[in-house]
Amino acid sequence: MTDATKLKALENVHRFFQDGGFADALAKRVAYRSMSGPDAKDDDLLPYYHEILEPDLTAMGFRCSYLQNPVAGASPFLLAERIESPDFLTVLTYGHGDVVPGYDDQWEEGLSPWSLTLRDDAWYGRGVADNKGQHLINLTALREVIAARDGRLGFNLKALFELGEERSSPGLRQVCKERAQALAADLFIASDGPRVSKDQPTLFLGSRGSAVFELSCTPRAGGLHSGNWGGIMKNPGVVLASAIASMVDGKGRILVQDLLPPPIPTPVRDALARLKVDSESLGRKIDEDWGEPGFTAAERLLGWNSLEVLTLHAGNYAKPVNAIPPAAYAHLQLRFVVGTNWTAIEDIVRTHLDQAGFTDVQVKLIRGSPATRLDPASSWVSWAKAAVKDVMGTEPAVVPNLGGTVPNDVFSDILGLPTVWIPHSYPGCKQHAANEHLPLSIVEQGLAMMVSVFWELGEAAALDACNRHRATPVA
Ligand SMILES: [Zn+2]
Repeated sequence: MTDATKLKALENVHRFFQDGGFADALAKRVAYRSMSGPDAKDDDLLPYYHEILEPDLTAMGFRCSYLQNPVAGASPFLLAERIESPDFLTVLTYGHGDVVPGYDDQWEEGLSPWSLTLRDDAWYGRGVADNKGQHLINLTALREVIAARDGRLGFNLKALFELGEERSSPGLRQVCKERAQALAADLFIASDGPRVSKDQPTLFLGSRGSAVFELSCTPRAGGLHSGNWGGIMKNPGVVLASAIASMVDGKGRILVQDLLPPPIPTPVRDALARLKVDSESLGRKIDEDWGEPGFTAAERLLGWNSLEVLTLHAGNYAKPVNAIPPAAYAHLQLRFVVGTNWTAIEDIVRTHLDQAGFTDVQVKLIRGSPATRLDPASSWVSWAKAAVKDVMGTEPAVVPNLGGTVPNDVFSDILGLPTVWIPHSYPGCKQHAANEHLPLSIVEQGLAMMVSVFWELGEAAALDACNRHRATPVA
């Protein structure tokens, strides 16, 4: 790295961090109680747009507009556009200003969800990791690149924000379909979710999908005395447990072939082989004998599907009585990777249950969202790796997809974009719980990485990566 402009932007962003500018900006954002949940109110949410994001983005030369949410009662989307030339690359980024509830009384002594506190080299407060701190890092880096380049970027940038991510992004899918033209771009880059570990800069390229379905066995309306009827009347608890056991064994191995993905593609397998995914990196002893036999932990967690029992219910657990319960229910969840035929999950499970003799077990899909994964062999991935390595000295970890689920299909499938996520958080950040925090080291590295990424997007190599990506047939 020799470019003086890039060095200047890196120096300035470092100074902003050192001088407390970043902490002040983060504290201001954390103080907004922009909670989204079943009873979210626009009065709590919209000020984050009007008082924080819109002034910030406008000062950086963005033109801001609001896209009405097609879902009644859900907050609008903020679209900020900064178009320098129709000939330039266009990048779409994304963030969310809503947070989960504070759970104020559960925080450690001296900490509060709504005021930023520095403790043990980390900032504590609701939203520091999810997602206020993450998009603040990106916007701060962007501002320094614009300043260092005398008011220009060398690429076009569109930024989409929402206030409903924590309640499953109502309307996001629909608005991206309806406004595909306004959101059109060449590349998607955003920050959310965790790194693979605290000290390892990370790119992730998609996420596993999730399908939650209910299994039920409801042979009769009331319970039956187990002494008078046991042995001649079927027990729905036994039937349901057996049905589940026919789908996933006692070691977590999925037994229904059609609930599995195709073999792991070579570029994905290679990327997974370079990741450190073990008890040490995850901070918790993992079960070596759980999941698909013969697979590494990285392959089991990120390259394969898992079938979980989320709930399991029959009878009255608190008060067992001598009765055959009238019904049994369970919620199961399939976490799946790209290539899984998840939209047919009801039919797949139905066929399996019928063949296995469980015709009296009903299946119903409750909710689902697709899996996504940019090919790790894409030229955009090597481009992003180089941009990170330029300031970090080493290449980032490349996670083909997160184990969890983010609404990445909106960007990858609906808008058709190559998606590169650069997370500024880590697995221990307590996101969604009390004591949410963001280590200073991650902020400092994140700022430098994003300066590099935004700076490099204005260079010829980015255009080249874009052209090579387009020339590669989609696998
Ligand atoms: Zn969240």
